[in-house]
Amino acid sequence: ALPVVAIVGRPNVGKSALVNRILGRREAVVEDTPGVTRDRVSYKGEWNDRRFTLVDTGGWEPDAKGIDASVAAQAEVAIDLSDVVLFVVDSRVGATSTDEQVVRMLRKSGKPVFLLANKVDDARQEPEAAALWSLGLGEPYPVSALHGRGVADMLDAVLKKL
Ligand code: GDP
Ligand code: MG
Repeated sequence: ALPVVAIVGRPNVGKSALVNRILGRREAVVEDTPGVTRDRVSYKGEWNDRRFTLVDTGGWEPDAKGIDASVAAQAEVAIDLSDVVLFVVDSRVGATSTDEQVVRMLRKSGKPVFLLANKVDDARQEPEAAALWSLGLGEPYPVSALHGRGVADMLDAVLKKL
């Protein structure tokens, strides 16, 4: 079976945009309204001749318990089935309590985790990415799913863990 790369994070941080950036085509639905994506969950990705399964956790609806519980439940499933996790945070918003909840789950899992500071569309936003060191997951990778900035370097590092 192909190695599994799971993308977890709160609604609207840019998980689906990142999927599309990695795939090089628009397959995942990017939504301006948080939490309403109805996209497919699993994709076949390839980078530098390495193939992997990409899992986008945005495809499930928030349940009656609300966004927080829904993010946690989805992240738990995705972390469980993954070999490597890409944890996406919106660098413009910064770390929220939901993010910290996911961090605790990631730590418990022992899986290799890459912390992606998304929406760093240009160099002026790098300090916002650096602020995410506070999550205690190591170096944040500044990326822009929308423009592609930083994504190649990040994927090169991820492939070394597969
Ligand atoms: P998801 O809910 O985590 O899957 O987030 P989406 O991929 O649907 O994106 C949510 C919103 O953030 C959309 O309006 C995207 O256009 C926007 N977005 C995603 N990535 C970036 C980025 O790198 N830079 C900027 N400026 N906006 C982004
Ligand atoms: Mg999505």
